[in-house]
Amino acid sequence: MRLQVKRALPIYWLDEDTVRIGAQQGITQELRDYAGELRSLLPLLDGTREMDELLHEAGIALPSLTAEQLRAGMALLDDCGLLEDASLYDHLPEKLHANQAFFAAAAANTGSPSNMAQGRISDSHVLLLGLGGGGSASVPSLLALGVKKLTIVDYDIVESSNLNRQTLYRTKDVGRFKVDVAAEYADAFAPDVSVSAFNQRISCVDDVKRLGADADAILCAIDEPPFVAQRRVNAAAVALGVPAVFLLSQHTRGRVFSVVPGLSGCMDCLQIHDEVSTEDFLPQYRALMSPERVGATAALAPHIQRLVSFGTDEIVRLITQYAAPFAAGKQMEVDYLTGNLGTVMEWEREPGCPTCGERDARYDHIFEIAPL
Ligand SMILES: [Zn+2]
Repeated sequence: MRLQVKRALPIYWLDEDTVRIGAQQGITQELRDYAGELRSLLPLLDGTREMDELLHEAGIALPSLTAEQLRAGMALLDDCGLLEDASLYDHLPEKLHANQAFFAAAAANTGSPSNMAQGRISDSHVLLLGLGGGGSASVPSLLALGVKKLTIVDYDIVESSNLNRQTLYRTKDVGRFKVDVAAEYADAFAPDVSVSAFNQRISCVDDVKRLGADADAILCAIDEPPFVAQRRVNAAAVALGVPAVFLLSQHTRGRVFSVVPGLSGCMDCLQIHDEVSTEDFLPQYRALMSPERVGATAALAPHIQRLVSFGTDEIVRLITQYAAPFAAGKQMEVDYLTGNLGTVMEWEREPGCPTCGERDARYDHIFEIAPL
């Protein structure tokens, strides 16, 4: 172990006797140093020394302190959330150092250990379903996070009309399959990430189960057929025990919710919840499933990216557990017009859910509207 003051935290002296470590509320510590011990010790906590060497040099710099007292002083700094082991960075490629520094800095707020999160991401497999607005915008973030494996699935080609919001694609990509363009992007941007690209539709629950069999998280950015697509992903996620994040964008609002099998209500629990709590849910649901006209896409790139940022953030939480998921069993809504983010709906697991509970036949009529 090579102790260092967390590399994300600045160190600055307010006066001769007062040092601050950190510059963000909730993370920053202000320490008094009347005996000048910190002034001698802090420069040695730069992550270049193994513990024995650190104690030896600190003993020379501060001869009045015993090794035991020096250890106690460093333990105090560690208890304040200020120290980390520099060797955590040794095995990470340089491009992921800022990720590690973030998790270490965030640990002071979250209380979670800072040494596991990036490792979990670097070992993870994310299944990304759909490379339209939400899915294509998720690709750079997921690659930049440093996932080990990314599986991408889509059946569509790039069209000119996509280019107002699907910023992964360029004009010269029009006419090409989205999976091919995304795979090419991934290869150029993050050749160390293993990318599996599948040019196919999701036609049944088994399609998702097969693609996500060893996934650590699923990001669902497909919505065709409406409700059916998400129900298929939900059923597979529950069967596999893999958490799934769902992105839904309308015109001036977008929603994110996640399903954590065994913990949160699933999407079918939500449908039971809606049916029980909303008087005209079923007639609306039925009517939406057979529209006279499907509305055209109406969306701006920054809005889609905002929605995607919450979705991929949720993926990080589900994989690393560095902080609680914010959308498990909750629909978080981004209001594109006001910029506000809030919870618009919460639901629990339903014991009679056909997907994650013991099917109660009283609810069968709900699931006949958008059958799997
Ligand atoms: Zn359920």
